[in-house]
Amino acid sequence: MPNLSGGCLCGDVRYSVSNDPVVTSICHCQQCQKQTGSAFVEVVAVNEGDFTVQGNLQSFTYAGDSRRKKHSKSCPRCSTTVFIEAEGFPGRVLIMGGTLDDPSWLRPTVALFCEAAQPWIASEHEMTEFLRMPT
Ligand SMILES: [Zn+2]
Ligand SMILES: [Zn+2]
Repeated sequence: MPNLSGGCLCGDVRYSVSNDPVVTSICHCQQCQKQTGSAFVEVVAVNEGDFTVQGNLQSFTYAGDSRRKKHSKSCPRCSTTVFIEAEGFPGRVLIMGGTLDDPSWLRPTVALFCEAAQPWIASEHEMTEFLRMPT
């Protein structure tokens, strides 16, 4: 199984997972764009019982799609959203893919809310790719 340990930007929050993910997805919805400050979110869904987290967490509750509640868990020091618990996915922890120490194995299999995707996403293959910042 892949290495599923990770944490927040400052390192105060650390987690590990003892089993394979249930599903890996990306979500283009506007809430996920706001939450990440980016074009979409990568989510690694794991079983609650396989998930261990250390460090203080701050919780923010909001209404997701279909009015079901979502609780986003972030580090109070560096504000990284580390994972989400959602009423729509009972018993699951939705880890923000970017918080993994090693995301090299990650191949999301599901794309959600594609209707809200930023228009450039579809032309991704036409982008000029840089390995790092261009100089
Ligand atoms: Zn932190
Ligand atoms: Zn979303």
